[in-house]
Amino acid sequence: MTRTSLSQLEARDAFQARHIGPDAADQQAMLSVLGYASRAALIDALVPANIRNKGALPLGQYSAPMPEQEALGKLKAIASKNKVLKSLIGQGYYNTHTPGVILRNIFENPAWYTAYTPYQPEISQGRLEAILNFQQVITDLTGMGIANASMLDEGTAAAEAMTLIQRVGKSKSQVFFVADDVLPQTREVVETRAKPLGIEVRGFAPAELAGLPDCFGVLLQYPGVNGTVRDYKQDVAAVKARGAMVVVAADLLALTMLTPPGEWGADVVVGNSQRFGVPLGFGGPHAGYLSTRDEFKRSMSGRLVGVTIDSQGNKAYRLALQTREQHIRREKATSNICTAQVLLAVIASMYAVYHGPAGLRQIAQRVHRYTGVLAAGLKALGYTLANDSYFDTLTVQTARAEQLHAVAVANGVNLRKVDANHVGLSLDETTTRDDIELLWTIFADGANGAKPAFDAIEASVADAFPAALNRSSSYLDHPVFNRYHSEHEMLRYLRALADKDLALDRTMIPLGSCTMKLNATSEMVPVTWPEFSNIHPFAPDAQTVGYREMIAQLEEMLCALTGYAAVSLQPNAGSQGEYAGLLVIKAYHESRGEGHRNICLIPSSAHGTNPASANMVGMQVVVTACDASGNVDLADLKAKAELHSKNLACVMVTYPSTHGVFEEGIQELCQIIHSHGGQVYIDGANMNALVGVAAPGSFGGDVSHLNLHKTFCIPHGGGGPGVGPIGVGAHLAKFLPNQRSSGYQRDEAGIGAVSAAAFGSASILPISWMYIAMMGAEGLTAATETAILAANYIARRLAPHYPVLYSGHDGLVAHECILDLRPLQDATGISNEDVAKRLMDFGFHAPTMSFPVPGTLMIEPTESESKAEMDRFIDAMIAIRMEIAKVESGEFDRTDNPLKGAPHTAEMLTADTWEHKYSREVAAYPVPSLRKQKYWPPVGRADNVYGDRNLFCGCAPMSDYE
Ligand SMILES: *Cc1c(COP(=O)(O)O)cnc(C)c1O
Repeated sequence: MTRTSLSQLEARDAFQARHIGPDAADQQAMLSVLGYASRAALIDALVPANIRNKGALPLGQYSAPMPEQEALGKLKAIASKNKVLKSLIGQGYYNTHTPGVILRNIFENPAWYTAYTPYQPEISQGRLEAILNFQQVITDLTGMGIANASMLDEGTAAAEAMTLIQRVGKSKSQVFFVADDVLPQTREVVETRAKPLGIEVRGFAPAELAGLPDCFGVLLQYPGVNGTVRDYKQDVAAVKARGAMVVVAADLLALTMLTPPGEWGADVVVGNSQRFGVPLGFGGPHAGYLSTRDEFKRSMSGRLVGVTIDSQGNKAYRLALQTREQHIRREKATSNICTAQVLLAVIASMYAVYHGPAGLRQIAQRVHRYTGVLAAGLKALGYTLANDSYFDTLTVQTARAEQLHAVAVANGVNLRKVDANHVGLSLDETTTRDDIELLWTIFADGANGAKPAFDAIEASVADAFPAALNRSSSYLDHPVFNRYHSEHEMLRYLRALADKDLALDRTMIPLGSCTMKLNATSEMVPVTWPEFSNIHPFAPDAQTVGYREMIAQLEEMLCALTGYAAVSLQPNAGSQGEYAGLLVIKAYHESRGEGHRNICLIPSSAHGTNPASANMVGMQVVVTACDASGNVDLADLKAKAELHSKNLACVMVTYPSTHGVFEEGIQELCQIIHSHGGQVYIDGANMNALVGVAAPGSFGGDVSHLNLHKTFCIPHGGGGPGVGPIGVGAHLAKFLPNQRSSGYQRDEAGIGAVSAAAFGSASILPISWMYIAMMGAEGLTAATETAILAANYIARRLAPHYPVLYSGHDGLVAHECILDLRPLQDATGISNEDVAKRLMDFGFHAPTMSFPVPGTLMIEPTESESKAEMDRFIDAMIAIRMEIAKVESGEFDRTDNPLKGAPHTAEMLTADTWEHKYSREVAAYPVPSLRKQKYWPPVGRADNVYGDRNLFCGCAPMSDYE
């Protein structure tokens, strides 16, 4: 027997074999179906030679793969350079206790975090119910008519509100007033958004609200950043009487005690739900929120969950009013939002479910009481407060601000930096009596008064906001917020919801363009380390050294993989990356005196976010054609580039194309655009077909966004969070986003802030860091090649049964393939939707439906699916094709068959009457393996039309339970 060496036994590339589903033998079998000898030969045949990478990925110290434990150790060492202090900085971010039952059963539970966006409602009822609960929490607490299913953060929510009121308002003014006590990071995001739209943002002192000059809208903060709680009722009426609309950014916890903005005239209420159980995470991800009056629901931005009925007339949840959204309305959409913050919205909603209205109020009252005690003690110490009304935030006058910050930090506490003569602090649900005593000690240093006596003060403090603002209306009266307060009940509610859904923990999710690959546990573990989760976004730089190191390394890694010179991690979804990238292009043209360039060419096959983003930066979208084989029609593109030569700003193309093809002409396309002075935006959502093989920054792209929640293993969370970093060429690097209000400035030419936090969704960046570190250069390339191999294997196996719509050289596809159901539909009446729903009876999540081509299914297996799982899927698709054949032959009825009846619930199948023209057995067990393991869809097919006609977007009323 030959002796194995120790280095062989160490298996440094072990993670690669865990991440990549098919082993060497399986890959060989797949290759032989395709007629290629090796993965390399397949890639050579497929990817145009002129764009191929030369040499290995330049990953430096991360070139060699790191075993899981070693990578965790290395990241822990980096994380340990962060210092976790008690941050009382506030300014929109607060300490919170994530209830253990929620932490373990949602945040750390793949049944929740690996789920996809609920486009297929029948297999998403659990998360849809949780998001609906979120909408109810927001609607109730803000006192508005309707709330959407999460915004990306508070800053972008305020910006969306600004454009919403401009759309629905009657004012012709272009002026938007932002109160001086609005969170500075919010104002910055609003200003960035306003500029390209020609909106003028002006500040004002809150006391001057009633007398503001002509404007279309006003943004208020409630309570203000310095803590003041103002009664705005009369002033709001005054500005509204003159035609302006009012947006209020409000604190959810405070709203359990304060009269909600909806009761004093707000048109839109926005904010952040972070303090409902979501860790600080250095600024994100958190779920922002937006609620408005019912009459504006069709103009509202973002996702919305509504109630409808299923095929049996039973209640079912689904995404409502999608006709507002980018994937349908394109440049006329109400926003470009696609991935939102679902997982975080689910956590926040469950925090409200667990605590209930009384529990939330108790938390708020406690925070408020502590704040009152602290305030009285500070006064006793001789301090003067700048705010005499407050909920949880105090601004303290002092001539020794610098010194106080230093003393506080020495005692493990961060205070908010206001100016040389003031310090601020915000309390939260984690505050204890010891914290108050410690704060008194800190403030007593150098002060004159005697140490305050806690109990004596506590006995006498009263509420510290105007009596008229004492909330009298009830909230969260629905049963769901009053049933699950014991941990057992909560645990079972969470389990019951998760059981309704299909996520990656049960089946492959073959979604084209969405790259539902493995979200490895080792990648997820660091996210909840306190060194990452308990860091305030505005903590002093000295305490965030570890974060900055990890972020800088990830930026470098992504530069190496994309061929770009610089990367910004600030955008918190792909859509936001597009928006940021287009702003960068705009800034570049302006810097060269070519600010008039405003034409954005977009092929007809583009993702809806592309035109929607172009619209947000004031560019004019010119659609270019695709040819019969799905490629960008270069002749048409060339003609339009020539026609608009003087005003050409850029092109937005996806590569490989949304049709799943490596277009041969991509370099020529880039040259055409450049020759007319335009910039090339390459949508990097399909980067899973490129990493290690070709780099957009090297073959002609000037800007790309990546979707870290697609290619780089951040889970989809049921529709978010995401990270949408942008990479740019050297000539564009200086225009990357800043956050001046927090002192984060890469270059003064930067476009401003596009997110509320400097590093966007910072706390989930360790996931992508871990993935890259554990895979190494070779592993990443192998993943890409295997993803391409897998897509081609499925395409080739299914081609005899369903036409594969587009392919390139040698009939090959890239990392996904499109099955054309339209000929079958014409012949049999069976649609792509029927196939999608029937797959649920087989226990599968449907592929992407009708994108980028109506009537099709787009399949992307990714490298992580084993051959066995792909074969199970292929068998299901073939079995379904046999069923369609029976419709064709007349053996099955054209309208009453297992495809049209799908999905079948247990209730349908066990009813005493069964009046269909096919058997129960055919409906339930179309393949034998389902007898051993079967997923039961909780509802029948959801009725989309009914749901939009009878729009209802809240929890069921009490009467439903009687
Ligand atoms: C997913 C996707 C986007 C949008 O990204 P989000 O993170 O969902 O905002 C843009 N373009 C393409 C091609 C995509 O597949």
